[in-house]
Amino acid sequence: KSKTSAAPKAEKPPRRTVRLTHPDRVYWPGEGVTKEGLADYYTEVWRYIAPHIVGRPLALLRAPSGIDGQTFFQKHAWKGINAHIVEVQDPAEKDDEPYVAIEDLDGLMGLVQSAVLEIHPWGSTLADWERPDRIIMDLDPGEGVAWQAVIDAAEETRKRLEAAGLNAFVKTSGGKGLHVCAPLKPSARWPAVKAFCKGIADAMAKDSPDKYVSTITKSKRRGKILIDYLRNQRGMTAVAPYSTRARPGAAVSMPLAWSELSADIGPAYFTVENTPTRLQALAADPWADFRKAAEPLKTGKAKG
Ligand code: ATP
Ligand code: MN
Ligand code: MN
Repeated sequence: KSKTSAAPKAEKPPRRTVRLTHPDRVYWPGEGVTKEGLADYYTEVWRYIAPHIVGRPLALLRAPSGIDGQTFFQKHAWKGINAHIVEVQDPAEKDDEPYVAIEDLDGLMGLVQSAVLEIHPWGSTLADWERPDRIIMDLDPGEGVAWQAVIDAAEETRKRLEAAGLNAFVKTSGGKGLHVCAPLKPSARWPAVKAFCKGIADAMAKDSPDKYVSTITKSKRRGKILIDYLRNQRGMTAVAPYSTRARPGAAVSMPLAWSELSADIGPAYFTVENTPTRLQALAADPWADFRKAAEPLKTGKAKG
């Protein structure tokens, strides 16, 4: 093999021990991506995706017959759940059904074995369910919105997050839009974080009413971008970086450097097929410092 390098690509792929049943089952018929192909993809991206999906409650989009069959958005554990998937109890809801979490690559393979085609983590971890460690502003373009306008919205969201003392990162959704994410030191609780995010969305809609809306009302959305801040409340989720999407094209949600945002990279540009090549070619993971860049949210009430 080649010379020593600090780059992640020099590391060997991690070992997995979960046995897949029906490895040839086709999940994305258009691309011919099978269950085994999905397992290979997630093994390849494991070191990148792990920090975003390990040790937090997960909602899961399952599609046992692939993307053209029935799908289930599952927030809780189910009967006969794979042994590598962990069941966790919400400390605030002792009588609630258990949630699911994973701890390692075998857990992720347990998800693949369970036909999980999308992974949607909470914004807080099992270590502290009440204090989120990331914000995600979900930019949803309505019909007829140009891609450049979505990029502009992401840049503006970034500016507003930075003005509040946070660091902002961007990823494609793998669907239609962009997600602007900010790592947090877990200190503020959910209600304060939600109020902060609503404040940004409302301010954008107020300053540029021709471009942005901050409420869900469909009729108002044509030609505008919904600044969807509602991912940021307790129990709500958003698709993980590097998660696949259960949609035609086998796209994934891809972390980008801000400088990569351009007409060349649309929201579903990166896929199960071209992601390994991207990661091998990258000099550095654009989100390598995501956790290190965490800042506490200043809620503005601490004046003394
Ligand atoms: P796009 O760029 O196309 O908007 P997205 O991931 O931002 O992609 P959706 O797939 O529409 O948007 O999902 C919005 C959020 O709603 C997701 O983050 C997910 O956590 C949640 N969600 C998705 N599907 C369901 C469902 N069937 N039931 C409840 N919540 C869901
Ligand atoms: Mn969205
Ligand atoms: Mn949305």
